[in-house]
Amino acid sequence: MFEITFLGTAASVPSAGRGLSSLLVEHGRRRFLIDCGEGTQRQLMASGLGFRRLDTVLLTHGHLDHLLGLGGLAGTLNLWRSTERLAIHAGPAPLRLARRLLEEVVWPDGPPRLGLDWRELSPGPLLAARDLTVTAFPVRHAAPDCFGFLFEETPRRHLLADRLDALGVPPGEARGRLARGEAVVLPEGRRVEPGQVTGPERRGRRVAVVGDAGSTAGLLEHVRGVDLLVIEATFLDADRDKAEARSHLTVGQATRLAREAGVGELWLNHQSARYPAGAVEAEARAGFGRVRVAADFDRVSVG
Ligand SMILES: [Zn+2]
Ligand SMILES: [Zn+2]
Repeated sequence: MFEITFLGTAASVPSAGRGLSSLLVEHGRRRFLIDCGEGTQRQLMASGLGFRRLDTVLLTHGHLDHLLGLGGLAGTLNLWRSTERLAIHAGPAPLRLARRLLEEVVWPDGPPRLGLDWRELSPGPLLAARDLTVTAFPVRHAAPDCFGFLFEETPRRHLLADRLDALGVPPGEARGRLARGEAVVLPEGRRVEPGQVTGPERRGRRVAVVGDAGSTAGLLEHVRGVDLLVIEATFLDADRDKAEARSHLTVGQATRLAREAGVGELWLNHQSARYPAGAVEAEARAGFGRVRVAADFDRVSVG
C-alpha cells in the first residue's frame, strides 16, 4: 500500500494556506520525499510525519520553489542525527545545484556528520527491490534534466494459512518465498509449490508523480493505467497562453492526460493563488471525474 502526503501545493510562491512544492510517498517502511521547497521541514513537523527514516529525496527539477528547502532540512537532519545518510536523486543539472547549495552554502567549512549520497538520475529504475520498483522518466519543462517518478508494487499472492498449516510449512522465510511465487523445499525434503498454498494474485498498485511540466508529450506511456497520478495544473484553460509561456500545464492538459492514460485517480498540485477557490476543481471535474485538487496536508492511500 502507498500513502501519499501533500506537504506543499503552491506554484512558485507560497501563500498563507499553501507551502512550496513537496510531497511524501510512503511504501512499507520506505519514505521518498519528492521535491523540497522552502519550508518543507516545518510542513513535515506540522503534518506529524516527522523525520524518522527520511533518507531519500527525489528532485523533479532544479527550480528553487522545489529545491530551496533542502538546505534547511539537511541542516536539521544533521543536527538531530535523525538519519545517518541522505540520498539525493536528481538529473545532472539539478543535482549540481543541490550539491552547491549543501556543500558551498550550508557546509562551506567541510562535510557534515550526515552522509550525503549524490545519485544522478537517468531514465530507468532508481530502485529495484523485492517489493517495489521506482523508475525515473523524462519530463519536459523550462529547466534541464526534469524527471517524473513511477512507483510500482510487485504483485503478491496471499498465503492461505489453513493450507500452510496442513502442509506443515513453518512460519518465516519459507512462507515469504512462497508469497513471492517461489517454490520451497521443507527440511524433510518435501517440495511445496506456491500454487498449493496461495490465493489469487493481487496486482501491485502503481503511483506516478510528475512535477512541473510544460507539455504532456511523452508522458502517456509512463503513466498509463496507474492507480494514482499526481501532476501540476497551474493554469485554467482560459490562460493557456500564459501556461505555454511559463512552461506549465493547464487543467485541461492534465485531465486529458489522465483520461487518455485511464488513471484511477488524479490529484492536481502546484496551485496558483490567482484563481478563486473552487475554479480549478470545477474545470478539472468537467474533464475527468475522479479528480482532486490537493491542499497542504491532504493524505491519500493507494492499496
Ligand atoms: Zn514549480
Ligand atoms: Zn519549475
